Amino acid sequence: MPQMTGKQYKESLKKIHPLIYYMGEKIDNVTTHPAFIPHVNAAALTYEMALAPEFEELCSAKSHLTGEKINRFTHIHQSHDDLIKKVKMLRAIGQQTGSCFQRCVGFDGMNATYSITYDIDKKYGTGYHERFKTFMKMIQGKDLMPSGAMTDPKGDRSLSPSQQKDPDLYVHVVERKKDGIIVSGAKAHITGAVNSHGHLVMPTSAMRAEDKDYAVTFYVPIDAPGLLHIFGRQSNDTRKCECSMDQGNAEYGCVGGEALIVFDKVFVPNEHVFMCGEYDFAGELVERFATFHRQNYGGCKGGLADVLVGAVYALTLAQGTSKASHVKDKLAEMIHLAETIYCCSIACSCQGFQQPAGCYQADPLLANITKLNVTRNVYEVARLAHDITGGLLATMPSEFDLHDPATGKWVDKYMKGVADVPAETRIRLIRLIDAMTCGTALAESMHGAGSPQAQKIMIERRGSLERKKKLAEKLAKIGEQPFFVC
Ligand code: SF4
Ligand code: FE
Repeated sequence: MPQMTGKQYKESLKKIHPLIYYMGEKIDNVTTHPAFIPHVNAAALTYEMALAPEFEELCSAKSHLTGEKINRFTHIHQSHDDLIKKVKMLRAIGQQTGSCFQRCVGFDGMNATYSITYDIDKKYGTGYHERFKTFMKMIQGKDLMPSGAMTDPKGDRSLSPSQQKDPDLYVHVVERKKDGIIVSGAKAHITGAVNSHGHLVMPTSAMRAEDKDYAVTFYVPIDAPGLLHIFGRQSNDTRKCECSMDQGNAEYGCVGGEALIVFDKVFVPNEHVFMCGEYDFAGELVERFATFHRQNYGGCKGGLADVLVGAVYALTLAQGTSKASHVKDKLAEMIHLAETIYCCSIACSCQGFQQPAGCYQADPLLANITKLNVTRNVYEVARLAHDITGGLLATMPSEFDLHDPATGKWVDKYMKGVADVPAETRIRLIRLIDAMTCGTALAESMHGAGSPQAQKIMIERRGSLERKKKLAEKLAKIGEQPFFVC
């Protein structure tokens, strides 16, 4: 059976030896280092839930390539139902982790690359699509987790990739050999990068002819020679090494765990090259990937919001505020905001369409609407959570003081709300709210899957302004206007 358990996933990470640095330290094993354990646990749950009877319908699928049952994160969408199940799966996993579980980026990269390789072959007679299918069978057969590595450091934003003073500010081909290519450059903010099995690398923007060396898509195993990972800092990340309760969500963390990946003359064999120089397809690949990843956000963030609403509600019971009408109203507002982004994700899945390659793509306009709403609604949900939680969110004594003989009884006495609810219950809930709303997690809702302006550009491009103008002109009796079909 081509599916790993969570334990097997962790074991598989121990067998590979990628080059990883964090806070000036070389990391030998991400499965045992406290800075990485929550992220590994969250990704492991994507394996566990695919095998759990209550979730396997959502979290697994039948491969159209082999007919075998596979983890849905390695599946190529074959129907609207697959697109909808993806969103439901993300919400279900988010409800369990309360944090990013990372595996969606590679999943979306694989789906975008699947359809684009078909289209490239059709135009240029290349053989990328069959090659990619072979690659997908390998990914599905081994149940691997590739990261999706798209965003380049970009240097001077006013210049194209080939105009940069330093050519490595975007990943590019430095040499073409008979059996493969050599690439250099870097990818930034890559979710789950250090606990993936490899990286599916894609261009970050539309390219012109002069940028053709930058129009490159390929896969590399995480321990390929010349690859180096520098893990990013997160707010409150030293809590992961200090204590458990103050982390708020010690098991799964509060964000995905992002890294800068450096490619220093990395060799990629031909069988893992899926675009090389077809610059006219780079923009479309980015758009398809972005559509898939923006489709996700009402799923995963909807699941996270469920946890947050639950934490805030439990806290109101612990603090004696649950019956206040303004608190009830704010909780209802939080639910409304969460369900709104979920509705958006479901809608862009239902309005998806079949690509010439046979696979399914979510609706690009509605996916961008989804993500733009996430950049707002998640912040508003967090603001309401802060409002209800109160100032302790920023001033509460640490777990050390709760357990210290000199201070513990005072912390316990004065952190209590309702008499029969232990102070520790209240402290734990506030720390969970802290972890989910006070730092890196919020920035992820803003910039993950692209910053708001990227969505605005897509919305403006796909928003049919001219058609809408004609609808208005028709009713206003301005000129002769035909009957428009929606
Ligand atoms: Fe998946 Fe959400 Fe994390 Fe993106 S932010 S990788 S969609 S869980
Ligand atoms: Fe993300």
